[in-house]
Amino acid sequence: MKNFNLDSLPREKFCTLPTPIQPMKRLTNQLSSVNIYIKRDDLTGIGFGGNKNRKLEYLLADALLQNADTVITEGAVTSNHCLQTAASAARVGINCELVLSDSHIGDRVAGNLLLQHILDVKIHRVKDSSDRKTMMQKVADDLAAAGKTPYIIPTGGSNKIGILGYINFVKEIAQQAKEMDIKFDYFVFATGSAGTQAGLLAGKKLYYPEMVIKAITVGDGKDEIISSIKEIIKNFEELHSIDLDIKDEEIIVLDGYFGEGYGIPSKELIETVKLIAKLEGVFLDPVYNGKAMIGLIDLVKQKRFEKDANILFLHSGGGPAIFAYDEYFQ
Ligand SMILES: *Cc1c(COP(=O)(O)O)cnc(C)c1O
Repeated sequence: MKNFNLDSLPREKFCTLPTPIQPMKRLTNQLSSVNIYIKRDDLTGIGFGGNKNRKLEYLLADALLQNADTVITEGAVTSNHCLQTAASAARVGINCELVLSDSHIGDRVAGNLLLQHILDVKIHRVKDSSDRKTMMQKVADDLAAAGKTPYIIPTGGSNKIGILGYINFVKEIAQQAKEMDIKFDYFVFATGSAGTQAGLLAGKKLYYPEMVIKAITVGDGKDEIISSIKEIIKNFEELHSIDLDIKDEEIIVLDGYFGEGYGIPSKELIETVKLIAKLEGVFLDPVYNGKAMIGLIDLVKQKRFEKDANILFLHSGGGPAIFAYDEYFQ
């Protein structure tokens, strides 16, 4: 691993780190057989927080190195990633343009979309998520023709640069575990565009090999997630001339908990979000963390963890989405 020195890589340090690790005492009591902790990456400190902020510390540093004046990224109209990109870009003084596709939630200016309006970012709308890439390229070409220097950030900020945020994250929790005098046996979280998981797996190899990482999908596409993880890790290894030797069996993606599909809440989802709010005073979003928590609780009930295991659950942010899903909670 001698070629990889995380601290030497370009980074814009705008997150408030380390984010806290808190015991979920009442949930732990209720489930009784394991100890559950929550890593509060909803508190990263920019634009209502979230996991994309960590990736953007490295992506925006790269954009600045390339003298970019405008970043372009994509997502659904409810996208947390797009909001965090817009807010983080504002923080470092780069313009941001977003390509947003329709979602079943509709066009109401609420949640992340409302916050994007406050930021006054330029929004390019497309109907289908499959139209976004072409539109991003068109926006980039138009900007370049107007003498600007655009920088495209892929979906979720998930590439060989973005994952550095979650490699650094594992380094951070290894340090926190030492300070708390605790060993985290398992890490459970919501996976989507694969960047967080790729970073966690690489970070695990480098800084915390004893922790087992279990990802919960929040929509269809398990096979695609696994191949994206492998692709991102391969590109990362090539860039840094290292071999992380990540085995297929370490890439754990569980897809039994997303209900009817991405962004579609179920009765169980609403109940789970309410349960965690009432037990812990923590609000999980309905698209990612609520579904990951359904998975975690089920895995505990199915006795998939040893008795007294220490489990760290990631709160990856996304809170503003609650305000676009208001009708489901009434
Ligand atoms: C994007 C996102 C995820 C998934 O992260 P990926 O790196 O895309 O897999 C999880 N939770 C929230 C709140 C997100 O916005």
